[in-house]
Amino acid sequence: KKILIVGGVAGGATAAARLRRLSEEDEIILFERDEYISFANCGLPYYIGDVIKDRSKLLVQTVAGMSKRFNLDIRNFSEVVAVDRAGSTVKVKNTKTGETYTETFDHLILSPGAKPIAPPIPGLAEADSIFTLRNVADTDKIKAEVTERSPKRAVVVGGGFIGIEMVENLRDLGINVTLVEKLNQVLKPLDYEMAQIIHQELNAHGVNVILGDGVDHFEDAGKKVVLESGMKLDADMVILAIGVAPENKLAKDAGLKLGPRGHIVTTETYEVMDGASGEVIKNIYAIGDAIEVRDFVDGSQTAVPLAWPANRQGRTVADHINGIPFKNHGIQGTSVAKVFNKVFATTGNNVGQLRAKGLPFQQIHAHRGNHAGYYPESTNIALKLIYDPKTLKVLGAQAVGQEGTEKRIDVIASVMKMGGTIYDLQDMELSYAPPFSAAKDPVNILGYIAQ
Ligand code: FAD
Repeated sequence: KKILIVGGVAGGATAAARLRRLSEEDEIILFERDEYISFANCGLPYYIGDVIKDRSKLLVQTVAGMSKRFNLDIRNFSEVVAVDRAGSTVKVKNTKTGETYTETFDHLILSPGAKPIAPPIPGLAEADSIFTLRNVADTDKIKAEVTERSPKRAVVVGGGFIGIEMVENLRDLGINVTLVEKLNQVLKPLDYEMAQIIHQELNAHGVNVILGDGVDHFEDAGKKVVLESGMKLDADMVILAIGVAPENKLAKDAGLKLGPRGHIVTTETYEVMDGASGEVIKNIYAIGDAIEVRDFVDGSQTAVPLAWPANRQGRTVADHINGIPFKNHGIQGTSVAKVFNKVFATTGNNVGQLRAKGLPFQQIHAHRGNHAGYYPESTNIALKLIYDPKTLKVLGAQAVGQEGTEKRIDVIASVMKMGGTIYDLQDMELSYAPPFSAAKDPVNILGYIAQ
């Protein structure tokens, strides 16, 4: 078989490696329009903040290394600009020379990712110190800004994962940071009361947090950020992190079916569909941030731009192409991030989502030590469990604390994935010694409280 892959990072590189492991014979060509493949997107903020000191550590695989190791034909600086469905060919443009050529395929996998949203805010085009963060090139620009121009004041717009991680990393460099968020809380996966702990942590680290306000326009080449409320903020640099949109131009031009927010719609085995007829196109697949996924909790269509789904889909689409069956359970959206000394983690739906969907739920909270209180340095974890009042199945969980926070969410996520109830949380036999937990783990306690 001849298999082409568009996009050489999380989903695309995973698919390529798995395809090769499953078949020595297949011809596999991976196209990446930028220079780097398989880089650590998730590490980029920490390189800017000097936590990761060595830039080369971000480059998980190089073109030469991965080509050799997996016997792949990897073409960077190669943008796939058109897909001819009928002829089963793609048009590829060399982004250095501008030359184009066509390549045929038996199977085509699209993993083009998602791009930062940059609406046409007045003043944005004239600014030279406003940045978005997606890839290594963006990172190099921001790194150069913070090292060469030593900004004193930064404004981060958007309190999602990337915004929050940038706030922490810029603050740790000694920069005065203001965070502007349109909603009345940061980190939407958390419910309001859980997000308060994060607000407190941001305040405690000297971050000026402005909630319920958005950017109206920029003045002075981006050096003044004017908010909708009229407030003006001085900024030597601005990070725009207001979310991502699926990279769907190729799919749109090829007439593929897209969801309401522009994500590529796929079958359970990631085949794409015709935009007009909905007919499944058997030899073209899409994975990663660009696609719609099924919500694990209620089966509704949603989008989860995270690395786990992209990697999992990369592997399973390769399995499917090689006739290996797999069950698509949908996506729980399990996530974790660090905010200064706190960790927050979530899985499943939160109360806000369940209310919006009109689904019944019960919620409980617990505050437990991460390990035995008599052992030094025990810290508190605030936990929230959400479950179905009838079936008692776990619908979601959130935790904010320090050490051991994400471990509890990972256990609950696992129980959830197996269709578990609050009784299963009680019955989880988890490892215990005083430095790590208590004989009744916080996860068990949630099950007991819920009973
Ligand atoms: P990507 O990994 O973005 O890869 C898509 C690639 O396709 C890009 O390199 C792009 O250049 C290329 N491409 C697009 N169109 C074409 C074309 N037409 N021709 C050729 N190439 C093309 N997720 C987590 O779970 N945890 C984290 O901590 C986390 N941190 C993150 C931090 C940052 C700063 C960023 C930007 C993302 C982070 N993510 C995190 C999200 C995670 O990186 C993505 O979910 C994941 O990379 C998606 O994989 P993908 O294959 O869909 O897209």
